[in-house]
Amino acid sequence: MKITEVECLVIDGIYPYVVLETDEGITGVGESFRRSPWVTKAAIETIFKEILLNKDPLNYQEIWELLYEVASTCGPYGSLLTAISGIDTAIWDINLKKENIPLHKKLGKKVKNYIPIYASSMRRDMSPEEEADRALYFYEEGFKFYKMHSAYPEEIDSPRDKTLRTVEAIRKKLDKNIEIMVDVNGAYSVNKAIEIGRELEKFEVFQFEQPVHVTDLEGLKSVTKSLSIPIASGECCYTVQDFKNLIKKGNPDILQPDVIKTGGITEFKKIMSYLGKREIMIHNTQPLISTAIHLHFLSINNSIKLPLEYNIEQNSLIDNPIAKNSLNIKSGEILVPDDYSFGIDFDINIMKNRAKKI
Ligand SMILES: [Mg+2]
Repeated sequence: MKITEVECLVIDGIYPYVVLETDEGITGVGESFRRSPWVTKAAIETIFKEILLNKDPLNYQEIWELLYEVASTCGPYGSLLTAISGIDTAIWDINLKKENIPLHKKLGKKVKNYIPIYASSMRRDMSPEEEADRALYFYEEGFKFYKMHSAYPEEIDSPRDKTLRTVEAIRKKLDKNIEIMVDVNGAYSVNKAIEIGRELEKFEVFQFEQPVHVTDLEGLKSVTKSLSIPIASGECCYTVQDFKNLIKKGNPDILQPDVIKTGGITEFKKIMSYLGKREIMIHNTQPLISTAIHLHFLSINNSIKLPLEYNIEQNSLIDNPIAKNSLNIKSGEILVPDDYSFGIDFDINIMKNRAKKI
């Protein structure tokens, strides 16, 4: 088989999807992380396209190494790896369609049919009381975990920060009925993170995520050592080597890989096996391919008990679908799809119509 066309469609001007055509008529669809979609598109269509044309997509490992090697000269972490994620997931889609099997079958033996998810609130403009009302709504919908993003990473140690007031408001409204996770995206200095963390301990917060800047691994280690609540990090790690470095220097309690950042399934598989039985809470902020792939990985894994992230914000891919089917979500869990590949059947014509030009 040969790849005959490579395109990155930025759906609604936000979401980068990779479409690979082959000479056998199988079309692969892959997804990249949504930040900097135009950089992703440019990387795919200018740097990687010429490498991909005429390659056999069944050689996914060899292709991954070629792309990674090229990306290494100008990175590769960040946008180039998220671009490779879109390509690699599309290549896996082709492989799975060719074999006509669901991803979980390729990965191992499915041991779970439903995967628990947590409600991940991304808004930073809500009052503590509004956020508490939102947590109540999701609790009543069947969610047992709620994550808030209340701090301001663009203003380290900002006086506007309402993290503690929001946690207090949620506890007041829901008592211990819901687990609260606090993600501050690196909005604190080390001392402030420890100070806030001590207060979060009193509220018995389930997880304190990325307390200091993602590059400050020594600071992360100090925070982790000083606090009894679990510290989470890893959404900005892209390869096995990156996770080794994070664990060695930062040593967080919970690790958070994301398949549409790690260069796709080829490297994600290695990361998951490297992390083994460590605590993993998968980072997941896009509703289609990345969510589906994470469901497949979790469905074959007996040791991961922590829920999968699920972004609760409005999303044009949900409101106005680009696929002919959708994932089956109910009461804080999602059914693992059994249809071939990832279990999502995309409408390429709709996708092309919705793709924006720069
Ligand atoms: Mg996060």
